[in-house]
Amino acid sequence: MEDRFKFCPKCGTQVANDVAFCPKCGTNLTGEGMPDTTSQQDAPVPAKPEKSPNAALLITLGWISAVISLLFVPILFGAAGAFCGYRLTRFPGNRTAGVVLMVFAILFGVVGVIMGAIVGSTLYGS
Ligand SMILES: [Zn+2]
Repeated sequence: MEDRFKFCPKCGTQVANDVAFCPKCGTNLTGEGMPDTTSQQDAPVPAKPEKSPNAALLITLGWISAVISLLFVPILFGAAGAFCGYRLTRFPGNRTAGVVLMVFAILFGVVGVIMGAIVGSTLYGS
């Protein structure tokens, strides 16, 4: 009996299980009488595909920082580029790119320091 019949949650009328609306009061009987409007709010938010955009962002930021380190504040931007490279190595499939970025960011930072020293001595030296 329970397999074939259910009761309207509003007026209690016994109706067949495959009936979508109560014949007496018209209540929607699908979803055990739960209102349809709440079902969308309870739906879980789909997980953001973060990995690829973040990896691309790290590559971009890391290389920009590395290049800037050749010109301005090499220790700061070199470290920022190396940090981006380090973070990038945590992403599967981007490990090599991260290592390359780290190496070049440190290299650019060192070159930036040397170039800064040369430029500084040229500008301010005798
Ligand atoms: Zn009813």
